[in-house]
Amino acid sequence: MKRILLSIVGIVALMAGASAQTYLPEWQEGYMDIHTIATGRGDATFIVMPDGTTLMIDAGDNGKLKDPQHPDTTKRAGEWQAIYMKKVMEQLPDKNNVDYAMITHFHDDHMGAVRQMLPGENGYGLSGITLVGEFVGFDKLIDRAYPDYDFPSPKKIANANKGFMEEYHKFTAYKMSKGMKMEKFRVGALNQIAMVNNPKKYRKNFEIRNLAANGEVWTGTGEEGAKQYKGDPTLFDENVNSCAIRITYGDFRYYNGGDLSGGNYKIYKSSERDMETPVAKVCGEVNVIKANHHGYYDTCNGFFMNVLSPDVVVVDARSNNHPVPSTMARMTDPMVCPEQPEYYITVDKAREKLSEELWNHFKPWGHIVVRVYEGGAEYQVFVLDADKLDTPVIYKSDIKKSR
Ligand SMILES: [Zn+2]
Repeated sequence: MKRILLSIVGIVALMAGASAQTYLPEWQEGYMDIHTIATGRGDATFIVMPDGTTLMIDAGDNGKLKDPQHPDTTKRAGEWQAIYMKKVMEQLPDKNNVDYAMITHFHDDHMGAVRQMLPGENGYGLSGITLVGEFVGFDKLIDRAYPDYDFPSPKKIANANKGFMEEYHKFTAYKMSKGMKMEKFRVGALNQIAMVNNPKKYRKNFEIRNLAANGEVWTGTGEEGAKQYKGDPTLFDENVNSCAIRITYGDFRYYNGGDLSGGNYKIYKSSERDMETPVAKVCGEVNVIKANHHGYYDTCNGFFMNVLSPDVVVVDARSNNHPVPSTMARMTDPMVCPEQPEYYITVDKAREKLSEELWNHFKPWGHIVVRVYEGGAEYQVFVLDADKLDTPVIYKSDIKKSR
């Protein structure tokens, strides 16, 4: 009798344990999911549009093997990103191919690095985007400089990611020979990145606007871009040239601008680095932003934060400067963002430098999933455990109204 009782107690305990573990509910047609994938090595955002069209923004791996990595160091960041994406894609119309990949700019933490690159079988080394490309297909790849790679100069681009740009060019040439298309990011364009499965159904309430790249910003009318600098663009660092987009789904809006800069800073040469101010003027309010440049010193300026006025800020982090205390203090200042947003972050490396006071603004760290519900009127944020392969939910926000 005692034994039976004990085993009943055991089963009940097991059931309680099992029900405590929850997972992200399956994607459904009509949902837009924005996954910020946490590896600790660089940025990777994976977006599933309401019709199942997919967009990967960046596939970073800075190759610094000594840095902590999630879920672990048995595979490189690009493979972990691909594994995460493949799991999501099991639920989608196309299980093997990503419709669009976009590289915001040519830095290792957004595309891969020659440092610790793995050997490949097709004539190029594997890291970041070229490693992801071993596991999933890309129908179209968009970057800021195809096909000439000459802004602000060929040398500047090559030096932005020394050694790896050659691998990237070999990778894109190989993939194009297998059918991948490539395009240059067009500033101001509406729906250069467009739905491929059911665009008609969402024609009236879904769009992607290209806001900025290469020192140009959308004018706010038509599909034109305008230059934001008078001086020498070869003084630009690579971050200034980042591609920025705004996604609109019904009342919901999301901003992602790679490492776009918002001001001058002592380590950079150009004094014309404020792209955030003109971007803010044409972008307007959004619900969710990925903080520019991981929340480093030169970004998330007061005007930008005040105009975009996000309810949710996502920091895609990999270093103890992501974000820096001054930027975190500015973002969380109620005079800058009167409606205090919720803050999310991919890894906890900045915790000590931020101090508990600033760090405590963040929800638990991990993979961040913004799920926008049918029609875009409501959304919710989930944080998934980045150290577990089955990525259980560790935090879930309330359902929020888009505005
Ligand atoms: Zn970066």
